[in-house]
Amino acid sequence: MSHMERQYSALVVEDDAHTRELVVFNLEDAGYRAHAAANGAEALKLLEHRVVDIIICDIMMPEMNGFALREAVQSQAKLRDTGFIFLSAKSLPEDEIRGLRYGVDEYITKPFNPEVLVARVEAVLSRRAALAKAAQLDPLTQLFNRQAGEREIRRELERIQRYPSIGTLVFLDIDEFKAVNDTLGHAAGDRALVLLAEVLRESTRSVDIVTRYGGEEFVLFFPQTDEANAVPVIERMQRRFQYLSEKHAQLRISFSAGVVEAPRDGNQFDVLCRRADEAMYSSKEHGKARVTPWRPNIRHAGRPLRTP
Ligand SMILES: [Mg+2]
Repeated sequence: MSHMERQYSALVVEDDAHTRELVVFNLEDAGYRAHAAANGAEALKLLEHRVVDIIICDIMMPEMNGFALREAVQSQAKLRDTGFIFLSAKSLPEDEIRGLRYGVDEYITKPFNPEVLVARVEAVLSRRAALAKAAQLDPLTQLFNRQAGEREIRRELERIQRYPSIGTLVFLDIDEFKAVNDTLGHAAGDRALVLLAEVLRESTRSVDIVTRYGGEEFVLFFPQTDEANAVPVIERMQRRFQYLSEKHAQLRISFSAGVVEAPRDGNQFDVLCRRADEAMYSSKEHGKARVTPWRPNIRHAGRPLRTP
C-alpha cells in the first residue's frame, strides 16, 4: 500500500464471524488499520471514541441492522463524512437500489472476492480525497480558495501562539485589473490571474499558504518568516510577474502588496488581514507596483474597512 499517503482506518461491521475476519484480514494485509464490530450497536459504541475513514457494513444483523447504522451515522455531524459501503447477501436489484438510496459509496453483494473488495475500498477513499481537495481549491488558479486559505492561516496563527514563533501575512492586489479586463477582455484577465498564481506558487515554499482571496486579491502567509525576509520575496514575485505578463500579454501588469508580521502586528487573522489590506492600499496610493509594510501610523484615505 505504498501509494497511500497515510494509513487509512476501516471499520468492518458484520455478524458473520468468518466473513468479518476475512475482510479484516484482507484490509490489514493491504495496509489498513481495521476494526471490527458484530452489529450496528457495537459499531456505534466503537465510533463514539474512534474516527475511521470508511465503514464496510453488512445489512442483515441482529440488534441493529446496516440500514439503521447508516441512518445513525448520517445523523451525527462528526461521522457524516465517513466513507460507507454496504456488503450484503441481499443481491436482488431492489435490494441494491434500496441500499444505494441510503447515499452510500458502494453496494457490494456476497459472495465477493476479498481483493476486489479492498480495491473498491481504495477507489472510494481516493475519490473522496480528490473531492475533499477540489473543494478547497479555487477552480481557476488551483490555489486555496478563500475559505480553505483562511482556515489554514488561522491554524498557523494558533500554532504561532502555542509554540511562540513568527509569521508574515501578505495582502496582494493586481493593479488596474479592471483596465486589463476592459482592454484585453476577461479571458486575458483570467490568464493574468493564472499567471500570477503560477508566480506565487513557484516563489513559495511548500509550508507557505497561498490563497486566492477574491477577485484579483491574494493572501499569502509565510510561517517562520519575518517582515525583513518576506519583503524581498514579494519584490522578486513582483519583478517576475511584470516580466512574464509583458512577455505573454504584451502588457506589463503589476500588483500592490501590504505586509504584516505576526504576532508583532497582531495575532488574529481578521486584524492582520485588515492591516495588511491597509498597507496594500497605501502601496496603491503611493504609485502602485510596490510592497508596503504596515505601520501603526498608516492612514488609509477613506478606504472602507473590509468585513472579511
Ligand atoms: Mg448478516
